[in-house]
Amino acid sequence: MILILTPNIEPENDSYKQLMAHLARLQDIQLRVHREHGTEQTLTEIYLIGNTSSISADDMKGLPGVERVVRVSEEYRVLGRHRDDDRPSHFDYQGLRFGQGTLHVSAGLCAVDTMEHVEIMMRALRDNGQVCTRMGAYKPRTSPYSFQGHGKNCLPYVFDLAGKYGIKVIAMEVTHESHIDEIREALRRTGNPTGVMLQIGTRNTQNFELLKIVGRQQEFPVLLKRGFGITLSESLHAAEYLASEGNRKVVFGLRGVKTNMGDPHRNFLDFAHVPVVKRLTRMPVCIDPSHAVGSRSCGPERIPDLMHATAQGVIAGANMVLVDFHPVPDRALVDGPQALLLEELPHFLEDVRIAREAFEKRVALAERYASRDKTEAQTPVAIAVQNRER
Ligand code: PEP
Ligand code: MN
Repeated sequence: MILILTPNIEPENDSYKQLMAHLARLQDIQLRVHREHGTEQTLTEIYLIGNTSSISADDMKGLPGVERVVRVSEEYRVLGRHRDDDRPSHFDYQGLRFGQGTLHVSAGLCAVDTMEHVEIMMRALRDNGQVCTRMGAYKPRTSPYSFQGHGKNCLPYVFDLAGKYGIKVIAMEVTHESHIDEIREALRRTGNPTGVMLQIGTRNTQNFELLKIVGRQQEFPVLLKRGFGITLSESLHAAEYLASEGNRKVVFGLRGVKTNMGDPHRNFLDFAHVPVVKRLTRMPVCIDPSHAVGSRSCGPERIPDLMHATAQGVIAGANMVLVDFHPVPDRALVDGPQALLLEELPHFLEDVRIAREAFEKRVALAERYASRDKTEAQTPVAIAVQNRER
């Protein structure tokens, strides 16, 4: 059960003290307080953990300082969707809204290799109206002998160039607590010219210590990738683990799952799970077509598989697209074969726009059908019959 308190209530307020004194007397119930500092107000939620079935929601609602009561299902207490739960499904960062209703493209280098390539990439993004990117500085690799990323050495020029080209948010994978400190320090030294979304890669989805660390800070939002060899629910529990530490700014990333059944793609595409994640939780959903498909192969219509995959995710309502591009893929140090060329960026973005428009039309269509009086509802079957009869 979650008690949502009146906005801006402070622990020093009498009503807050009375409420906490009352809650402390509940038998076998643990309390966890979450405070969310927004730009306009501070929201406080109190989680009652334990067997709350005998606690009356009406009684709780009558307590001082309580505005609303949400009875949560067991799963995904923090991030899940619950009955009568109108908590938002978005967060704001660097002036951008990341939510279940928005869409951002984060195109960029899988791994930072040279300053020149970073600049060419950022300039192309700016020229195409983009404000988000991906830039890998810390790269966990399949082989320990492969290039592991430039680490903190590349951060100053990556951040400076982001500022120069108006890039507001960089998705950047971290694998260790020290990386967050290095990012924070480099941002400070460069005068905070941009923002960073900390990425937890598929190899670390269940690295619970890392999840706790990124969950305890609220400065940076987090993109948590689905684990490639675990169930969707296990990955969603990992997101819940992270958020239960305090950070609600979590985007959930689908990137395909590992199985030879997906061959010849690098991973088996799971973008049909976009609406599932949006139904079960309030997280915005990201798709990563690059790591799912793994190549620049093209279909007979001259549409790369990677763009087909992107369109599938976007038409299903994805909120973020993380995609590899590179000015000279042959010279990329990581994942060159799957990087799209910069010349393909306008084509890619136009294709995303078409898929998004189709998604929005589908939403409007579904709303039209849902709002009709059930008795008069014209189902697709009924329309098909009428059309035949005409
Ligand atoms: C990446 O996005 O660079 C990456 C390594 O992705 P994943 O963790 O999904 O393999
Ligand atoms: Mn990669």
